[in-house]
Amino acid sequence: MEKKRVLITGAAGFLGSHLCDRFIKEGYEVIGMDNLLTGRLENISHLFPLQDFHFYFHDVTKFVHVPGRLDYILHFASPASPIDYLKMPIQTMKVGSLGTHNLLGLAKAKNARILIASTSEVYGDPTVHPQPEEYWGNVNPIGPRGVYDEAKRFQEALTMAYHTFHGLETRIVRIFNTYGPRMRLNDGRALPTFLRQAIEGEDLTVFGDGSQTRSFCYVDDLVEGIYRLLLSDYHLPMNIGNPQEISIKDFAEEIISFTGCDQKVIYEPLPKDDPKQRQPDISKAKAILNWEPKVSRTEGLKATYEYFKGVIEGS
Ligand code: UDP
Repeated sequence: MEKKRVLITGAAGFLGSHLCDRFIKEGYEVIGMDNLLTGRLENISHLFPLQDFHFYFHDVTKFVHVPGRLDYILHFASPASPIDYLKMPIQTMKVGSLGTHNLLGLAKAKNARILIASTSEVYGDPTVHPQPEEYWGNVNPIGPRGVYDEAKRFQEALTMAYHTFHGLETRIVRIFNTYGPRMRLNDGRALPTFLRQAIEGEDLTVFGDGSQTRSFCYVDDLVEGIYRLLLSDYHLPMNIGNPQEISIKDFAEEIISFTGCDQKVIYEPLPKDDPKQRQPDISKAKAILNWEPKVSRTEGLKATYEYFKGVIEGS
């Protein structure tokens, strides 16, 4: 039997590279696409010798051409950390809008099923807690996060339009904060920043008073949820994340005691529109995909810490 062929955009990024690994492991032929704006080839270089892996250096905001058949497309290309999309606001908007349009067109031409990566940012600074998929969100379109949040909201709308108007097979995953090996140390996010600061002997920078909450999901759990969603017949948006919620201050302290470092927490100004609370309601994923996260924060932090130590000591 011929292998199924999957196109993964953002393949050299944190999530994209883990997805490439998973689909290779499941016996797919994988075409990874990336323009390396925030992705890094070292995340996927171990796949280059494999016959079933191909890499296309391409910006998906330009017409996307892939020869041959495609069974699945996973659209994971986008700057995704607040620092990245503040630095690259136009590219962020283009990849969520023009890029998504190109990939939906490709999916239609190839008669492929497409899964697009959306985000908990579609809920903005939520007034409903935890966030179920039915919640419409509280987003400032012209704030610093607007370029990401609105691109992703547009992406969801366009994807649903292709589903209803063209009958395209679509899947939408709303991804909550995720962490693990291959995150960039300097992407400005709380978790890699705190771990790097703990390892390099700097104080941990908590923004605001640290009472804002997040819920961190280990990457292997996320990939499992995405894999199940792709193969399910559910076309409405689905939250995938870990509901274990923690305040950022407690999280910084957890990292100090976890690493055994003797630095302290210092406080810096809270960025504009920083969501005050975030926790996924995962009832749908549980009921429909029979999925829930399995990796505890202690286990996940251990693996991530080892990776970061390796990167810092090797550099
Ligand atoms: N944060 C922090 N110190 C840092 C980086 C981030 O206190 O050095 C805060 C940030 O303001 C936010 C939370 O940690 O409230 C999570 O931020 P992250 O950038 O990881 O993700 P997002 O805000 O997109 O959930």
